[in-house]
Amino acid sequence: MVELDTETLRRYDSDYLWHPFTQMSEWEGAENIIITRGEGSYIIDSDGNRYLDGVAAIWTNVHGHCKKEINDAIKEQVDRLEHATLLGLSNDRAALLAKRLIDIAPSGLAKVFYSDNGSTAVEIGVKMAFQYQQQTGNKDKKKFIRFDNAYHGDTVGSMSVGGIAIYHEVYAPLLFPTIMAPSPYCYRCPLSPEGDCTKCGLLCLKELERLMEEHAHELAGLVIEPSVQGAGGMIVQPPGFVKGVRELCDRFDVLMIADEVAVGFGRTGAMFACGKEGVTPDIMAISKGISAGYLPLAATLTTRKVYDAFWGDYSALKTFFHGHTFTGNPIACAAALASLDLFEKERLLEQLPEKIDYIQDRLQRLMELPHVGDVRQEGMIGGIELVRDRHTREPYPWEERVGVRVIMEARKHGLFLRPLGNVIVVFPPLSISMDELAILMDGIEASIRSVTE
Ligand SMILES: *Cc1c(COP(=O)(O)O)cnc(C)c1O
Repeated sequence: MVELDTETLRRYDSDYLWHPFTQMSEWEGAENIIITRGEGSYIIDSDGNRYLDGVAAIWTNVHGHCKKEINDAIKEQVDRLEHATLLGLSNDRAALLAKRLIDIAPSGLAKVFYSDNGSTAVEIGVKMAFQYQQQTGNKDKKKFIRFDNAYHGDTVGSMSVGGIAIYHEVYAPLLFPTIMAPSPYCYRCPLSPEGDCTKCGLLCLKELERLMEEHAHELAGLVIEPSVQGAGGMIVQPPGFVKGVRELCDRFDVLMIADEVAVGFGRTGAMFACGKEGVTPDIMAISKGISAGYLPLAATLTTRKVYDAFWGDYSALKTFFHGHTFTGNPIACAAALASLDLFEKERLLEQLPEKIDYIQDRLQRLMELPHVGDVRQEGMIGGIELVRDRHTREPYPWEERVGVRVIMEARKHGLFLRPLGNVIVVFPPLSISMDELAILMDGIEASIRSVTE
């Protein structure tokens, strides 16, 4: 393989690449980091600088970078079969992974429909729910409930059920209409603006109940990121919220679509966030952690009840007419299988409580800083909301980009981070060691201090 020097790589990048979620006028010509290697919790750039990966390769990495067991599984699979379609065929890796996913999924989920990214996994869920209602005699049930601050991806369908205006407003005329429920964002409680609302979850459930009552006759499904709204700012739901949503969906005969793309695969400390609350959604979308951060893979899981509504003679046209070219790719499935083996072999979930407690301690300590307004945590996810004024909760104006300044400062401490507005995100590989976790939290604390004080 040709090894190019950093200057050439930066030039090629600037000349030919268009980066996601990036204002290219700021990117082009800047001294951007070009990653060429990965090793455990670290990513290494073309000059040999090492960065602790505080965002787990955008929330996907589980066992660390270049984990031997997964590398080996992929190499072995490449020499056996690289791809064969699931249209009119099956493959051994896809079949085995489907079984293993159902084994670990919340009980009651029975079928796996593959795709290759989180947005499509959610969009498939939306189409499934819609068609399910059409084929079970509920012709009027065509609408979806979504939550404020929700993020479900960037395709037109997944944007329609998302709630982050700054990303999606420009496309509003393309999106299908939905009914928006308030997000249980206690720190900025939408329903009790006088603040200090610890009942936010309850109030939001009450409002959701009212919306469902009003719209039940026309509701096909509800889409939720269970436990944590990720891209919306790591907004953690109060305990019992997901269960409350499940009960309302049951009561009003609305399919519950759980988007576990970010929280699935151990991120909350349990394999799945719904499982942690003892909830089985009707449809569950998974992607990011599924192949441990290696290859594009996603799945939409559902129950036998939903599956059966698509059953019939071909002539009844009840088939789910949906599919992607790389659906069930055996290399991606082999990586996912190796990852599930590692969860067992390394007892990964059993090692998380110690790390989770440590993150909690460190986040609590940050509350002493004058510009830390709120800290939020669910398992191995942390969010630190920076504010101009702690007492009034007045945010920093978005134009000041305090989050970006903090993560740029963190590079001096050898960290790679990515903020969500004024929220600093803690999202390391689950395999991170206690020592590395200390380096991560020290660096975050120092960076927040030097930018905000
Ligand atoms: C990242 C994410 C998605 C979108 O996944 P892509 O693979 O980027 O399309 C959907 N839902 C949630 C909760 C996510 O975090």
